[in-house]
Amino acid sequence: MAESGSRRSPVKALLDQGREGQQVSVEGWVRTRRGSKECTFLEINDGSCLANLQVVVDAQHEQFAIAEQATTGSSVIVTGTLVSSPGKGQRVELQAGSIDLLQAADGDYPIQKKRHSFEYLRSIAHLRVRSNTFGAVARVRSVLFFAVHEFFQQRGFVYLQAPMITASDAEGAGDMFQVTTLEPQSGEAVDWSKDFFGKKVNLTVSGQLEAELFAHAFHDIYTFGPTFRAENSNTSRHAAEFWMCEPEIGFADLDDNRRLAEDFLRFFIQAGLERCPEDLAFFDQRIEQGLLAKLNKILESDFETITYTEAVRLLEASGENFEFPVSWGHDLQSEHERYLTEKKIGRPTFVVDYPKEIKAFYMRLNDDGKTVAAMDLLVPGVGEIVGGSQREERMDHLQARMKEFGVPEDEYWWYLDLRRYGSVPHSGFGIGFERVLMYITGLSNIRDVIPFPRTPGNVAF
Ligand code: ATP
Repeated sequence: MAESGSRRSPVKALLDQGREGQQVSVEGWVRTRRGSKECTFLEINDGSCLANLQVVVDAQHEQFAIAEQATTGSSVIVTGTLVSSPGKGQRVELQAGSIDLLQAADGDYPIQKKRHSFEYLRSIAHLRVRSNTFGAVARVRSVLFFAVHEFFQQRGFVYLQAPMITASDAEGAGDMFQVTTLEPQSGEAVDWSKDFFGKKVNLTVSGQLEAELFAHAFHDIYTFGPTFRAENSNTSRHAAEFWMCEPEIGFADLDDNRRLAEDFLRFFIQAGLERCPEDLAFFDQRIEQGLLAKLNKILESDFETITYTEAVRLLEASGENFEFPVSWGHDLQSEHERYLTEKKIGRPTFVVDYPKEIKAFYMRLNDDGKTVAAMDLLVPGVGEIVGGSQREERMDHLQARMKEFGVPEDEYWWYLDLRRYGSVPHSGFGIGFERVLMYITGLSNIRDVIPFPRTPGNVAF
């Protein structure tokens, strides 16, 4: 049963395929210990799945006293024989042969067999991965991380590792963290030419501009990497460090872009449902009732597309008492996005063609001269999950927009070069990995889908 190159038998493999009479060795941590005069039961978890393997130690066993010291959180290696289990919900259990108690956890182990609040678990992020919820999140995260690459690699996209240190602010996509080796000098104006790079630099807020460069050589590309935004917003949907995937497709318009985003989201959900059924069933039961139905519905239903102008009309006619008033020319707020996708339309919705004033300079101007070919994908429960656009490929239009936005041409000479040497229509979008994870797990706070979240005032672990 031990997998090649490994001594151990993962609990998942034993529970799924273990045979009665099989000699196995399990390495893990004790989730609970309970017992009677006749025997002790140890529930062992090794992170390979949600379920534990039950180990039975008879009172006559020469190591019975050791088993009794194996408190919750202790690390153990148990070697023994698989037998069929009379217990409910498990096919097999392990009749202990030898028990190696590597370390008996202190009695104040912070994760006990009861429901702890998410707030409390965040304060012990070094141990919360050993809880059911965060174990499941970590496994789903790992599987879906791979699925991102799989989706694009299967379609022949080239993976660009966009730089994390950059001198561009990517059109002001978000507030930036500065990177410097200069010592702070109070009162004096900073001379950035003396800094490490000879200029002001920051951590990337988006790899999009670099992605556009690559799309002009490889047609279809994607980035997937850490992204940093110093937004002091402290919401449940924003982290200072998160993972963003940014595909960019050459010779493509907004419709191609929409189709790609839709295919990607479906693939992602399908991958989660197929590869993490046990963990998703757990989320369905414990975190968001109806989660599986919601995800399956997405696979079946067509995504809706409405223009920004239609969206404003729907919101104005809604009769809802929004905190932020709705009017054409203003950005949609979270409450508006959620009304549209949750109450009015009831399924994922692309909102396209936003007023040019509220979107970035690089988005392609539509023929009406008032809107740009932007698209946001809104999903029930989360709101915006994807932001993208068709990019402006016409040099004169781009220059005019840069002027309007005060974007200096000399700093973006390399970006403008693309429109000089073989310009093509191209489109792309950014999708926040954690936002999709929130959607798929039903967890409502981004801090609970990132192993070690970085948010304003919090950089623990
Ligand atoms: P929002 O309006 O939610 O702040 P945004 O308009 O700033 O998002 P974009 O710049 O379009 O977002 O970024 C693309 C995607 O990256 C978003 O749709 C979202 O999924 C994700 N994203 C953006 N900011 C954050 C953040 N601080 N934490 C986690 N994910 C984020």
